[in-house]
Amino acid sequence: ESQEVTGRILTALQVLEATAAEHEEDFGRLDAIAGDGDHGQGMAYGTRGAAAAARAAAEAGAGARTVLVRAGDAWAEEAGGTSGALWGAALTAAGGAFDDSAGAGAEEVVAALVAGIDAIVRLGGAQPGDKTMVDAALPFRARLLEEFEASSDLAGAVKQAAAVARQAAEATAEITARRGRSKVLGDKSLGTPDPGALSFSVLMDALGDFLAQ
Ligand code: ADP
Ligand code: MG
Ligand code: MG
Repeated sequence: ESQEVTGRILTALQVLEATAAEHEEDFGRLDAIAGDGDHGQGMAYGTRGAAAAARAAAEAGAGARTVLVRAGDAWAEEAGGTSGALWGAALTAAGGAFDDSAGAGAEEVVAALVAGIDAIVRLGGAQPGDKTMVDAALPFRARLLEEFEASSDLAGAVKQAAAVARQAAEATAEITARRGRSKVLGDKSLGTPDPGALSFSVLMDALGDFLAQ
């Protein structure tokens, strides 16, 4: 049963890798408007590193918790950059919701997503309205908990929360950046959504599709 959980985690990470690769140019173009243009590459390298490290750990016999911790370390290392460090910390924190040698269900997945988002907020220190991925992640978190409590349908809750995150990410176009690299360019970001907020919503939408399978 615990190996089944590990297998699902490996596939989920492959889905994130494929999604980041598919959107690499879009994310990069977005980051180039007010940032340094490397967000597509960061997400592609980070997800690829995470998926590879998770696979290696699982092949060496690691369970779900350890697989996610290793994946998080690799994401931060391979991606470089601010978002890579935050995503890496998120995966490592998400691992804490699983056991190495026990099964897991929808509750554990929700707890993992919440723990991951909380790690991003804690480590990055961004407030809502700072024009970062937090502006997508916090509405996602709230809607996920609300929907899951109401329906107990994990995939449906993730999909709905991802749709809310997408809207919130697009709404960041209206704010001037105050954090991260793009803060030095301030007003240049006005009219453009935050790349990290958008990529967060795109990855969570893909995760929702995967969970529905
Ligand atoms: P870098 O800014 O180092 O080039 P990326 O381009 O990969 O890294 O990521 C940029 C994204 O990181 C931003 O669009 C924003 O969403 C996110 N980000 C930056 N600083 C923070 C922070 N303090 N908290 C949360 N997210 C942040
Ligand atoms: Mg960048
Ligand atoms: Mg950079």
